[in-house]
Amino acid sequence: MNKVILKPGKEKSVERKHPWIFSGAIDSVNGFPENGGNVEILDSKRKFLGIGAFSPISQIRVRFWSFEDEEINQSFFEGRIKAAIARREIFRCDSNDTAWRLIHAESDFLPGLIVDQYNDILVIQILTCGIEFHKEIIVSALKNVTGLEKIYERSDLEIRKLEGLDERVGPIYGDIQSEIIIKEDKYQFLIDLKKGQKTGFYLDQRINRKIVAGYCSGKSVLNVFSFTGGFGIYALGGGAEKTTSLDSSHDAIELDKRNQALNGFAGCECEWIETDAFLGLRRMRDQNKKFDVIILDPPKFAPTVAHANRAARAYKDINLLGFKLLNPGGILATFSCSGGISPELFQKIVADAALDAGVRACILERLTQGPDHPVALNFPEGAYLKGLICLKQ
Ligand code: SAH
Repeated sequence: MNKVILKPGKEKSVERKHPWIFSGAIDSVNGFPENGGNVEILDSKRKFLGIGAFSPISQIRVRFWSFEDEEINQSFFEGRIKAAIARREIFRCDSNDTAWRLIHAESDFLPGLIVDQYNDILVIQILTCGIEFHKEIIVSALKNVTGLEKIYERSDLEIRKLEGLDERVGPIYGDIQSEIIIKEDKYQFLIDLKKGQKTGFYLDQRINRKIVAGYCSGKSVLNVFSFTGGFGIYALGGGAEKTTSLDSSHDAIELDKRNQALNGFAGCECEWIETDAFLGLRRMRDQNKKFDVIILDPPKFAPTVAHANRAARAYKDINLLGFKLLNPGGILATFSCSGGISPELFQKIVADAALDAGVRACILERLTQGPDHPVALNFPEGAYLKGLICLKQ
């Protein structure tokens, strides 16, 4: 097998079982590994450290499959997939939900692989050339372990470019409808598997939707970046008096409207605003609009630390406007799913926003991604979703 030899001292992160090797840590590469092919990783004294996937153009040059000397074949992937599913049995067993994240990449010891289950359909997202290299046996392994026959691919992410991969969307197996209905808690959601954000739904916000709904009884609720209405539907279920959804996507707003009807909320007082959030929030501020609960769940403004500065300005802007639009005693449920923004930085941005808005606020709750998006302790980068429930005083 081709070999990657590390510079002296660069085995430290490997000893802590971190799954990434950056290009700067590599002394030499013996042989000509293929894009995504397997390599043995050795320390500077040629001691075996593990087996990984080689990404020749990415700064993350190697991602570990294993810290043991084992074959990376279909049964290896079946083992990892079974373990990922078993990890979720603990909290899935007493739930009627029909959509879950089954595999959360590095945190399920399968770097670069996302698999979400929607009813009897698996939607896979391949982020790295290592997964791409083994795609065929991984797909067979998924079918064998889950017994499911419908597999759809949503590998349409910008970050694939960093791995030299093109975008790919479409069915791999089975006859798959674009639009499906899943169940979550007491609700049903229409999902567009082909065009919806991520793999179609924000599964990572499942628990947070429920928590935020607890603040909505009898309140006027503004759901910004509402997508297909997740937070808004839960807010109505929690007794909200009125909801306003704001999103720039026409398709998302249409699905949100249909989701409200699907859940029996057609007669409720609901408003939809299809606009850019930065413009829409300013307009509402100028019109002196006020709400009791505001949810800010924007897309990823900073996918990596390199984007953090520009992203910080965007987060501050929307949070400042959010605080201004709140009634005294109101609740701001504000989120960031940017891996490039740490929880500490996010809290500081929200604090600066409150300061500039001339508002006193405190944090009532800190939120994060649900347990089907676990964070392996050896991979702190897996903790990407941060949420603060703030009370405006
Ligand atoms: N809160 C949602 C997920 C939000 S996803 C949920 O729980 O399901 C991010 C949403 O932001 C997408 O629907 C996207 O259309 C929308 N969006 C992206 N940029 C936007 C902008 N500048 N203004 C308004 N909406 C935007």
